[in-house]
Amino acid sequence: MNIRRNDIVVAVRGRDKGKQGKVLQVIVEKRRAVVEGLNLVTKHLRKSQDNPKGGIIKKESSIAMANLMLYCPQCKKAVRVKRVTEGDKRVRKCKKCGHAFEA
Ligand SMILES: [Zn+2]
Repeated sequence: MNIRRNDIVVAVRGRDKGKQGKVLQVIVEKRRAVVEGLNLVTKHLRKSQDNPKGGIIKKESSIAMANLMLYCPQCKKAVRVKRVTEGDKRVRKCKKCGHAFEA
């Protein structure tokens, strides 16, 4: 799996194509991720003690990871990554410019 929590990714397919956001959650078993600001769905809240008026909120819904690509800050676009072993660390690097995604 190439995408992890806190990565900046770009949607390459779907309704939010071209938009980018931070990965909030990765659901490994479903191969999906929740990305900040992407794939927003409207949820209608019932009236509750916390929220006596009820209401409508926008909330992120998960996206198939196949529709996401890592965003490279040097290339300023979505890129493919390669996995490189450096010492005892496995590092993800941009295929184009070699930018390392792990600090
Ligand atoms: Zn790059």
